[in-house]
Amino acid sequence: MAFTGKCSHANGSEYQLTRNGRGNKHEVDEMKNSAARPRYRLFVEGPLGAGQDVVLSDDQLHYLRNVLRLRAGDGLALFNGRDGEFSARIEVLERRRAVMRPLSRLRQQQEGADIWLCAALIRRSRFEWLAEKATELGVRRLLPLRSERSTGDRLRTDRLQAIMREAAEQCERLDVPEIAPVQTLTALLASWDENRPLYYCAERDRDAGHGFLPSRSAAVLIGPEGGFSRAEDDMLRQQKFVKPVSLGPRILRAETAAVAALSLWQARAGDWRGKPGA
Ligand code: SAH
Repeated sequence: MAFTGKCSHANGSEYQLTRNGRGNKHEVDEMKNSAARPRYRLFVEGPLGAGQDVVLSDDQLHYLRNVLRLRAGDGLALFNGRDGEFSARIEVLERRRAVMRPLSRLRQQQEGADIWLCAALIRRSRFEWLAEKATELGVRRLLPLRSERSTGDRLRTDRLQAIMREAAEQCERLDVPEIAPVQTLTALLASWDENRPLYYCAERDRDAGHGFLPSRSAAVLIGPEGGFSRAEDDMLRQQKFVKPVSLGPRILRAETAAVAALSLWQARAGDWRGKPGA
């Protein structure tokens, strides 16, 4: 659950508009829209429709009541990954019961870019950071991997899900990325759909370049702190769908590499294209 007022919504858009002096109709509409948009966003599991009340979970109840200190009558935005985004009003906010009433649709559901992140497991706190940033950068699916040198404790999927949900609430996405079950690199490659290019971030392959190309779907592969082994590197390079890429002359931490690769892909081939100023 996230507070989204400060750096996004009305403030953020207004700042951008004055700063770059642009202001086409789309942006102005967006700004008007966002000015009217509630300050807080919540992801809910159930269906959303005007007038169809939604009962919140205990965690959400606690968050609204004790952290944000909201009350019945206050406004919020709701999304569920399927039905777009709704403005809603708190109908009931009692010690054990919270009910929201969706009022009207603010945005239609739309799909972001079809980009996956396959990431070898690293220390838990760093993997959680990576998951948060991947969500902000529009990843549709996170695929945690075991590889020869992967480290990290057991993955706490529930925690990871909560982190990604919060990131989605904060960054105004209309969905929350899916987390695939942990699998080995070998299993991942064996079941891969060849139509989805797998951009293998190879830290010592300076010749690889950063050739992210537009395609309907794609995935980025990041190794663990110790990198992939020689045998894994060979195995990767034998696959037709694997495209080695370089992220420059410095060796990045795995989580930095993930952010860099996703940003490059989004700018070159993903949903950053076609926006004003792009
Ligand atoms: N210990 C390894 C570095 C691993 S960095 C070594 O010293 O060689 C962790 C992961 O981040 C790598 O497996 C790779 O997927 C990615 N990465 C880091 N820097 C990169 C770069 N400059 N180009 C491409 N990938 C990079």
